[in-house]
Amino acid sequence: MSTPHATATTAGKPRILTGDTPTSTGLHLGHYVGSLENRLQLQQQYDCFFLIANVHAFTTLAEKPADIRANTMGIVKDWLAVGLDPDASTFVLQSEIPAIAELTFFFAMLLPFNKVMRNPTLKTEIDTKGLGDSYPFGFPMYAVGQCADILAFRPELVPVGEDQEAHIEMCRDVAGKFNQLYCGVNNRVPLDEHAKPGTAGASGLFPVPKAKIGRVARLAGLDGVNKMSKSLGNAIFLYDDDKAVQKKINKITVLPDEATKLVPQSHVLLQYCDAFLPAARAKEIRAMYAAGGEVMHGHIKAELGAAINTLLTPMRARRADMEARPDKGDGLVLDILRRGAARANTIAEETLYRAKQAMQIDIAPRRIGM
Ligand code: ATP
Ligand code: MG
Repeated sequence: MSTPHATATTAGKPRILTGDTPTSTGLHLGHYVGSLENRLQLQQQYDCFFLIANVHAFTTLAEKPADIRANTMGIVKDWLAVGLDPDASTFVLQSEIPAIAELTFFFAMLLPFNKVMRNPTLKTEIDTKGLGDSYPFGFPMYAVGQCADILAFRPELVPVGEDQEAHIEMCRDVAGKFNQLYCGVNNRVPLDEHAKPGTAGASGLFPVPKAKIGRVARLAGLDGVNKMSKSLGNAIFLYDDDKAVQKKINKITVLPDEATKLVPQSHVLLQYCDAFLPAARAKEIRAMYAAGGEVMHGHIKAELGAAINTLLTPMRARRADMEARPDKGDGLVLDILRRGAARANTIAEETLYRAKQAMQIDIAPRRIGM
């Protein structure tokens, strides 16, 4: 099989794949510092595929299809509101890409069941989302599906928050195993060179992608315990108005540690200062808390709220503009997703066919979205 530079696109740029699950009507500050900032920074340099994992949303919201649809609309509007550019990048609705579902099945054969079940991100989610032991089979399956979401586009880079690292590691395992089993890559070729052009033995179909973790790897939620999460009621959303943001910040409890009598340096308020105030000012605030004197928490919360609102004001305005349209901007979103599906299917179908060739189950290429 001839293998041109596996990550090169028609535009000649290396690829990025990343995305969000539509489990809520919008995105939050954790998404912004964990992944969106990187997407914004890299979207012109890379050929980017931004995926809405709407099939995966059914793992926890199977009884609420209308919510999943509304959430999908909301998240794409937030993408547009923060400045992701659907002309420079491809917006992908997962359910429109059949190759992803097919690759999921193939990849499920390459992952030991127990390894999936030991995935620490899945374990945390089962715990924090209170899924107990009655979650559907599809829940752990989504981790396998995510390998297919990524590898269908053969990207080099996956900008994500720290909670996704375990998933990306699994995806790297799958890509490596597929390349070795079906593409004849020798196990002495380092993972990162499996599909590197010009490298001896690098005949892999899949470049083994790397995670790119955001400026803040894991933004804590307002509860100060879990990561900020759409599903946990501990988030500041990008569309929250000035008052809502300030109210949420004001509710953060700031108590000194019983033993040291100091507010711990790990406190969520200080984490937010680091993330959203100028570095010098955050350092000054940290020093004040470390010194243990009287600190006016209220003033700091007001300063933080104002900084977050300054960041969010233009985003909210753009989302409000879209939602002021008679159709609430849904037509615009659907148009973008239709265009994205056509382009995404061209690439994903090519990947699938090449995977089938490697697995010796190819009969003829098929035509979807070409
Ligand atoms: P859910 O509660 O449904 O799991 P979520 O808030 O975790 O939602 P996802 O759609 O699962 O959001 O994640 C989208 C992207 O945002 C991923 O790359 C993830 O790592 C990143 N991300 C999510 N929350 C945070 C956070 N608190 N800090 C940094 N990055 C985050
Ligand atoms: Mg999540």
